Amino acid sequence: MASSEEITRALIDALGPEKVLHELPDLMPYSRDWSPRPETIAYLPIAVVLPSSTEDVATVVRLANQMEFVVIPFGGGTGMGGGAVPLEENTVIIDMKSMNRVLEIDIPNRVIRVQAGITIEKINEALEPYGYWFPHDPESKPASTIGAAIACDNDSTFGIRYGKIVTHLLNVVVVTGDGRILRLGHRKAHCSSTGYKLHWLLIGSEGTLAIITEVTLAIYPKPRSRAVLMYVFPSIDKAVRAIEEAIRAGIPIESANIGDRYRLHFYTHAYRTKYGQEPSIPEWAKAIVGLSIAGDPKVVRFHARYLSHIFRRFGGRRVREQEIVESWWASKHTLAFEPFKQKWPDSQRREKFGAADLGIPVGRLEDAHRFFTECTQRHKLRIIGMNIYNEAPNRISPSISFAVYVNESDPSSVERFYAYVREMSELAVRLEGTMSTYIGDGDRLGGFNRIEHGDALDLMLAIKRVFDPHAVLNPGKKWRSRWIRENLTEQPKP
Ligand SMILES: Cc1cc2nc3c(=O)[nH]c(=O)nc-3n(C[C@H](O)[C@H](O)[C@H](O)COP(=O)(O)OP(=O)(O)OC[C@H]3O[C@@H](n4cnc5c(N)ncnc54)[C@H](O)[C@@H]3O)c2cc1C
Repeated sequence: MASSEEITRALIDALGPEKVLHELPDLMPYSRDWSPRPETIAYLPIAVVLPSSTEDVATVVRLANQMEFVVIPFGGGTGMGGGAVPLEENTVIIDMKSMNRVLEIDIPNRVIRVQAGITIEKINEALEPYGYWFPHDPESKPASTIGAAIACDNDSTFGIRYGKIVTHLLNVVVVTGDGRILRLGHRKAHCSSTGYKLHWLLIGSEGTLAIITEVTLAIYPKPRSRAVLMYVFPSIDKAVRAIEEAIRAGIPIESANIGDRYRLHFYTHAYRTKYGQEPSIPEWAKAIVGLSIAGDPKVVRFHARYLSHIFRRFGGRRVREQEIVESWWASKHTLAFEPFKQKWPDSQRREKFGAADLGIPVGRLEDAHRFFTECTQRHKLRIIGMNIYNEAPNRISPSISFAVYVNESDPSSVERFYAYVREMSELAVRLEGTMSTYIGDGDRLGGFNRIEHGDALDLMLAIKRVFDPHAVLNPGKKWRSRWIRENLTEQPKP
């Protein structure tokens, strides 16, 4: 195996010194993402490469095969599962943010072609003058890249109308683990039934199969106006049924989040703290729904009125405090960290947001919520709350964030958090759901995700070998990781 110095020298020779970072201060930001981990532990990469083309990426991957180092594609570093974090000593990071150009906007064919390191926010800024938009919209859009949105299969605020990234992804250019450059997908056609859909295999692959360097996406006419509304309900079940009834009535709901009573408390507490008065939220409220409806102003007004009428039948009451509604919408769209607008007040300064991100069948939400409360108590974790996103068009399709506070300066808090994630993941499988809906396996679930996948995991490993025969791409992610092995006690099955 080549030494760090030999690898760095080879990278500089191949790409030029301006594309290779190797001084300690330049490497530090790449030792973490947003996943909770003890602040005393950091694995640094040998070097960080700043590519400008697919060929640059292929050059690094080919060198990795020759010199036996491993490679991690890194986007905005906002992933919550440790997917972009180096775990091995001989790691070279490829910072995809340096590939951030718009390559083509093709309005007649309703597509945009971009380099994979562009942020989702920048894609929409480029489309703005044309009256079109790309509606896949995670809260982290100012920092999170389109390549990673595909690699993590992340959630979108507008999932209940536009679905997940799979709906919008037409083709990708990738570099496989043995350095081949391939275009996968169906060019600018918006659907296809020929061949295998290998571009879809990249969805959720977390940089373990190939590095995505270019992406072609479907774009949509941008609505002219939007109403943002909030309601409280006596239970989560009532909130679910009200949204379903609105869909049945033909109301094209654009976004819908259901928060539990802890999340509701979060908003009322913030309002009380800021304005020194009680919001007019009734005592009986146990769930809060934030939603939007978009279209022409007249149509939006009509739908908002009709929705109100339906929601009242299920015990819903409109939240009158516009500040609360705006704070919810700002948390989705501006990531404004001024205390009231921040989703989890001051948490990122003292304690971190950590989540189990489960897909729970809709009929079992209350069961999952009960277990959540009990499990957090058992692991002595403070609850932030349960937030249900809906990620498939025209139906309730829960992608749930079961969020808690984690203190990274206390290793036992991190350990308890991962024990909690494991138990919650096992619960999801018991309830016939899934262990992850937007974070991915990262280095959290590897080692016990066989509970969900069974023998299919062996088939997945065989697919990994086809794309990445010498295992140079993102080792330890999706599969058992060295970090978990060394730092966390294996939890026995409950
Ligand atoms: C404040 C905040 C709000 C968030 N809101 C949401 C939300 O609303 N919805 C949601 O789903 N998530 C959300 N997240 C989580 C996170 O933003 C998403 O998972 C996002 O997709 C990560 O993008 P990134 O560019 O930061 O990826 P990174 O963290 O850099 O990487 C994530 C994974 O993708 C891989 N990867 C990166 N680029 C490529 C590439 N070009 N080819 C192949 N693999 C690649 C990495 O190796 C890694 O495994 C939020 C996070 C934060 C901190």
